Amino acid sequence: MNEQQRKEQAQIKQAASLDRKSDQDKPLSEKTTEDFAHYFQTTYEPPDIRKARKRGRDKVEVHYDFTIPEKVQQIGKGKKFLIRTYGCQMNEHDTEVMAGILTEMGYETTTETEEADVILLNTCAIRENAENKVFGEIGHLKPLKLEKPDLIIGVCGCMSQQESVVNKILQKHQQVDLIFGTHNIHRLPNLIEEAMFSKAQVVEVWSKEGDIIENLPKVRHGKIKAWVNIMYGCDKFCTYCIVPMTRGKERSRRPEDIIQEVRHLAAQGYQEVTLLGQNVNAYGKDFEDIDYQFGDLLDDVRKIDIPRVRFTTSHPRDFDDHLIEVLAKGGNLLDHIHLPVQSGSSHILRKMNRKYTRESYLELVDKIKAAIPNVTLTTDIIVGFPNETEEQFEETMTLMEEVGFESAYTFIYSPREGTPAAAQKDEIPEEVKKERLHRLNALVNKQSRESMKSYEGKVVKVLVEGESKKDDTVLAGYTEKNKVVNFKGPKSIIGTIVDVKVTEAKTWSLDGELMKTTVEVNE
Ligand code: SAM
Ligand code: SF4
Repeated sequence: MNEQQRKEQAQIKQAASLDRKSDQDKPLSEKTTEDFAHYFQTTYEPPDIRKARKRGRDKVEVHYDFTIPEKVQQIGKGKKFLIRTYGCQMNEHDTEVMAGILTEMGYETTTETEEADVILLNTCAIRENAENKVFGEIGHLKPLKLEKPDLIIGVCGCMSQQESVVNKILQKHQQVDLIFGTHNIHRLPNLIEEAMFSKAQVVEVWSKEGDIIENLPKVRHGKIKAWVNIMYGCDKFCTYCIVPMTRGKERSRRPEDIIQEVRHLAAQGYQEVTLLGQNVNAYGKDFEDIDYQFGDLLDDVRKIDIPRVRFTTSHPRDFDDHLIEVLAKGGNLLDHIHLPVQSGSSHILRKMNRKYTRESYLELVDKIKAAIPNVTLTTDIIVGFPNETEEQFEETMTLMEEVGFESAYTFIYSPREGTPAAAQKDEIPEEVKKERLHRLNALVNKQSRESMKSYEGKVVKVLVEGESKKDDTVLAGYTEKNKVVNFKGPKSIIGTIVDVKVTEAKTWSLDGELMKTTVEVNE
């Protein structure tokens, strides 16, 4: 995109935001709960896959006019907030937005629970143990709330989109003052105010996904790497997964807004961006006015002067030839692809509604490897999907080897209320599932160790992120393929990309020596 086109797009954006429809004629900050009434149409219904699948293609409005209402702008002055984040990068990034909003309300951040005046638990619902952790934390906060009655405890994120969780909190955890959903983040200023002055628990959970709000403030975690949301929600409906219900339908941000954000990050000196979405390569499929998909977006982001671009997560089903072609151009598009396979058995994949087979996944891997010969592949795997047989599990083991994944996130299947898989009777005992996970993890470790070993003696490019947590005389950073490298060097190189010679490989990290030439360049 050239300068002229960019200017034109900026014009278009402004014109669009001025041209509000009649039911939209109030700025976002002046809207009340009544203005949002249509978002409550299905509030508090349990996740219902049939209904969710039928959700309409209502036009998603993009707003550029978020402001903090004047009356709450300094409401946090002299006070502190703490946000505890559970789950995926999407939640991490939502936390950055909530931190941005609270900061603009005058709050300061703290890491000390006892010091906080607002504590938000940004939760994850993907597996039962994630939920249990949050309930444990809610319990731990009770004595503090008794000691400090003005403390506001809030629960947000994916768990709060579930009726059963909201009910449990309302009934059993009176110490929680505020519950709000994933579509209500921009309402945080109003919700905090309500929680401060209301005697009752404040609950606002829209089950209908909201619009896209572009200009929410953010306090990013660090100045080296940044997350950039490119889309929200998921329409894939894998039968085990709660995300399409907790995050709503797929909504893509406009390309010009994403490109502007990445360009801005580059100008601020960020070295790496990760484009985020539940299913990034479904990007653009919801646009009705333009034909612009994930490959097109990457091709544009590739031209921005930022050293590293990653994305997560991509779905095998939407990994099209154009995307492969663009990735093969390299440059700042790194040759590491996280491509969750979930299972090596076509039968299980069908039951999971993944819409690909073992064979078609392998064909895709071959295509990717042919186009990007040095590519590194990593994956997600679920063990113990209902009634998975030993043979079907073995197919996952052989696929793991056949693809040569360099690492994998492995999970035991966790039934999620409201998902089709949770309704199935499962004959496989938990012990068998645990034993399979154990075997799979041994294979994952072996493959990771072998891939690490192949770096010994080689020089890798490392984005230096800081001191090692274990030893402050050691620096740590990530290679292009996302491997951790520990090495000694001056602190002045933090935030830069340097050459490091790998001296020793461990299972999950590399030790190395900083190459002399790089020190001279960067000091
Ligand atoms: N959208 C991404 C995809 O489809 O690859 C993944 C999103 S999900 C947050 C991350 C991983 O959690 C999934 O890839 C899957 O392996 C795992 N997961 C999701 N639901 C699960 C469940 N009910 N039990 C166990 N693991 C689950
Ligand atoms: Fe869940 Fe990912 Fe499947 Fe969407 S694509 S339903 S987020 S596992």
